[in-house]
Amino acid sequence: MVKETIRVYARLKPLGRRQQAGIYSVDDDDKSVSSLEIIVPHDLADGFVNNKRENYKFKFQKIFDQEAKQDVVFDSIARPVAECALAGYNGTIFAYGQTGSGKTFTITGGAERYSDRGIIPRTLSYIFDQLQKDNSKMYTTHVSYLEIYNECGYDLLDPRHEASRLEDLPKVTIMEDPDQNIHLKNLSLQQANNEEEALNLLFLGDTNRMIAETPMNQASTRSHCIFTIHISSKEPGSATIRRSKLHLVDLAGSERVAKTGVGGHLLTEAKYINLSLHYLEQVIIALAEKNRSHIPYRNSMMTSVLRDSLGGNCMTTMIATLSLDKRNIDESISTCRFAQRVALIKNEAVLNEEVDPRLMVVQLQKEIQELKDELALVTGKQRTSELSQEELLQLDKLIETFLEDNDPESTLDVGADMRKIKYCFSHVKQLMNHSKISDKKTVSQHISEEKDTNKAAGKEELKKLKELLQQRDNEINILVNMLKKEKKKAQDALFQLNVASAGSTALEQSLSINLEEKWSPSNCFSLKEAKDLSSSVNRLPFLSRQTGGKMSLGCQEAFEVFKWDHADSITIEDNKQLLKQRFAEAKCLGEKINEVRNKINHLKGELTQRHIQRVVLAVSNPSEELNTLDPVEEKLRTQIEEEKKSYKTMFNRLKGLKVEIEHLQLLMEKAKVKLQKDFEVWWSEESTNLQVCQEKTELVRSPNSTTVYPQFIKSSQPLPTNSFSETTRASSNEETSGKNNSNNFNSSTSKTRTSPSSNTPIPLTGDSQIDADILAFIKARQNILQKKGLGNK
Ligand code: ADP
Ligand code: MG
Repeated sequence: MVKETIRVYARLKPLGRRQQAGIYSVDDDDKSVSSLEIIVPHDLADGFVNNKRENYKFKFQKIFDQEAKQDVVFDSIARPVAECALAGYNGTIFAYGQTGSGKTFTITGGAERYSDRGIIPRTLSYIFDQLQKDNSKMYTTHVSYLEIYNECGYDLLDPRHEASRLEDLPKVTIMEDPDQNIHLKNLSLQQANNEEEALNLLFLGDTNRMIAETPMNQASTRSHCIFTIHISSKEPGSATIRRSKLHLVDLAGSERVAKTGVGGHLLTEAKYINLSLHYLEQVIIALAEKNRSHIPYRNSMMTSVLRDSLGGNCMTTMIATLSLDKRNIDESISTCRFAQRVALIKNEAVLNEEVDPRLMVVQLQKEIQELKDELALVTGKQRTSELSQEELLQLDKLIETFLEDNDPESTLDVGADMRKIKYCFSHVKQLMNHSKISDKKTVSQHISEEKDTNKAAGKEELKKLKELLQQRDNEINILVNMLKKEKKKAQDALFQLNVASAGSTALEQSLSINLEEKWSPSNCFSLKEAKDLSSSVNRLPFLSRQTGGKMSLGCQEAFEVFKWDHADSITIEDNKQLLKQRFAEAKCLGEKINEVRNKINHLKGELTQRHIQRVVLAVSNPSEELNTLDPVEEKLRTQIEEEKKSYKTMFNRLKGLKVEIEHLQLLMEKAKVKLQKDFEVWWSEESTNLQVCQEKTELVRSPNSTTVYPQFIKSSQPLPTNSFSETTRASSNEETSGKNNSNNFNSSTSKTRTSPSSNTPIPLTGDSQIDADILAFIKARQNILQKKGLGNK
């Protein structure tokens, strides 16, 4: 058992260009503790933080300053927890902090660079690496990915995710068994046999999370996400299984409702989130209090799921993410305060070992064997230990008294011990042989009586032991039946799982096909990228709904332009270049590896040839010694060894490249999905705006008629050159660029949406969808023209 308090770390996010740094200092002179001092300027102290203190000091295990890299964070925080999980202890790492402070960046990683990989991908990589090295045990790994949003749980790895809305999916619910263990119904455990499979599942979950998100439901900042790695291990032939769970948790933003300034639906949502973080805080306060017997875990789903991680059987680590710019000082202080309370909680991690029921059967069989031995003893086998001198003397006395007793009813009672009984017989025999007992008959009579008594006692013992044996046999039968039932249940469950997953196979296949495709350089980097993107838009449920299953020309063209201007297009382009480079490297390395392999084969051939020659020589010329070292052979061997070494180095490098390439591909895929989503949002808003505008025009032009074809509207304002691209680019470097993009974009375009040119009247059809397409089409064309320097000609 390992007893220790929750380890608490802090990580400071780099400040953006426009952010004004708050005043703070980090002191990490002491190796085991670092402290963070935050100084609150007077003006702030009068506001949100309403006491008069000016500086606050908080202690952490370690503080990662703004420039700390992801690998360093992983090595200090996650590696020790992953090691424990491999050894059979439960582990949890959770990130806590306000929205935008870097929780997702720390837990999952940034979406741009391979080096920005967060704790989850690095932990997976580390775990599978270790499993590969350890041949002494058999391991199985599963992952699950749970999202808790508005107190409801959703399985992010549910294959139905893509096709249905969040609300339509079966909710994950909590069940408790009689031993108060928590089980999650409807949360799938997906087996992952290697790093690649696990990373694909992570990517699938993240994508599902992104797809479920809409502008009204920015779930990612308001939901909690728990990625769990389940490891079980067993030594071959042993009946003991070790199981451990490693939770990697990205909590919802911890900011207070008052500050977010939201209302209506969003407020309900914010209350929920704050409620669940509030319950988390309550649990933590209760745990930190001494002599507190009731801990309110059951108040919220998150605290129920994380019950073991908080004051239970788990090694837990918390990362407080802080954005220390001036505006966020009060939130940062509240995060630090929370962290200080968490640091007081003690956990007791125990090795999670279970005994297989089969082992119990083996044990019972052993007991039966022992009983059988005892029985055999009663029925004739000798005990191993000898009778003591004292016992022998006692027996002698007993026999003497017995023999001298004239009462025909008297018996010689030595108990159910074969050794004593036998001793009595031999002693009596001796007495018979050596003493001059006149009446031999009497003696023999005595002896036969004695025999009868002993037999009766033995019989009784035999009966008892037989009964015990019967009882044990029954127990074994019951256990065997139980085992059979369990096995059948497991088979049934497997069958159902197969049936259920039949639907998901298509998805999995497409995923694997996708990856296979991606592995082919010709597919991945062709200039058809744009086309791929457009065609993938066709798959999106949203556009299918909007356009009756087919994407119109205008929409496609607008998407082309949107893509051009999207902030992420630079990232995608950069990653594409990097991928190209990596592929070239991989290709080159592959060729080199082939060369080395051929060379090794060639050298091996030479070696064999040389050996044969020597054997032939030895046969024809017996004086030739075959055992002596042949310098040529030796040289060939050294050469082979060297080539093998370089082969190994190159092979490992290629393996590393493969992982990097796969990760980059996943990042790009994610960026593409995001791009499509952003476009969908923009497109739908444009259509709605246009419809409203058109209805107004209709009212003005023909107040009494319902439909007039064709209608013409004239623009009130010309489309400013580059309004489209400038607005988006301007916000692209901001930290929340993803969210702001579409908003800025909308506001600028909505002003000018009526017409792309000041003079051209636009024919409208009255069908809002077609009209929207026409407008977008014209706007997109104009943008392209502007880009090519032909704008407004
Ligand atoms: P949260 O999940 O807490 O809301 P994010 O992880 O999404 O915050 O971070 C917000 C933005 O800041 C993201 O664009 C992210 O890439 C960036 N960011 C956060 N932490 C760091 C860091 N340590 N280094 C570089 N960029 C970071
Ligand atoms: Mg986040």
